[in-house]
Amino acid sequence: MRFHIMTLFPEMIEAGLNVSITGRAVKNGLLEIHAVNIRDYAFNKHQSVDDYPYGGGAGMLMQAEPVYQTWLAICDAIRTAKKEEGAATPEEIRPRVVYLSPQGKPFTQKMAEDLAKEEDLVLLCGHYEGIDERVLEEIVTDYVSAGDYVLTGGELPAMMIVDAVSRLIPGVLHNDVSAEFESFQDSLLEYPQYSRPEVWHGRQVPPILLSGHHANVEKWRREQSVIRTAKWRPDLLEQADLTEEEKELARKIQETLAMDGKL
Ligand code: SAM
Repeated sequence: MRFHIMTLFPEMIEAGLNVSITGRAVKNGLLEIHAVNIRDYAFNKHQSVDDYPYGGGAGMLMQAEPVYQTWLAICDAIRTAKKEEGAATPEEIRPRVVYLSPQGKPFTQKMAEDLAKEEDLVLLCGHYEGIDERVLEEIVTDYVSAGDYVLTGGELPAMMIVDAVSRLIPGVLHNDVSAEFESFQDSLLEYPQYSRPEVWHGRQVPPILLSGHHANVEKWRREQSVIRTAKWRPDLLEQADLTEEEKELARKIQETLAMDGKL
């Protein structure tokens, strides 16, 4: 999969993603991460890419043209990578372009799964007060937010998306199974996990995990997932596919929390 990140701070993206698991995946040729500097497409000699907003107001706005030219260059690179003779224009290539914005839909694991189907994914990082609306209307296909707070730029959320999407690409994680049984699968949080030693600070690993009884371990893990989700993310339970017994368990946990004033 190829990621194309439109940014004013490519060094931030490179420092953040060319390490650890994503860095290894790039080295192994499973991913390409291209941080494309919007400033390289500035159309004035000072290479400035921002200007005052019409109508007044605080701060500066990223201008439409440098962002548009960066998008055209990325469409060109995609065409070359795909060797698509037929797709002659950017409109025909039409990559999916995610604009990172506090106004977008909050990012979820489901979105990561959906984005992981793309061969090329473009991520657009804003700065200052944001970007001229007209270019967003022309090139953006998805508006995605990191959460209900305002950051100084879209680079951290873009890196977050690259990270979450990358680990779903076959081969990126050494153990592909570990991406399958994780929080948010089936709208449940993952069960607690333990490693050696068996006793640490006087805390014993739950004996069932040492029993070697696979079916009982699975049953315990599922139960722990339900308990944890009921405690920490009860909002997820509505989407979860629970048995009657599990619904009852979740209800009891929530009742207890409500009685303790913790809900
Ligand atoms: N004036 C904009 C607004 O109120 O919607 C906020 C601009 S913000 C200071 C600058 C840039 O940071 C945005 O263009 C966006 O790319 C990025 N950004 C800030 N908060 C974000 C969030 N919660 N999720 C994703 N991107 C965010």
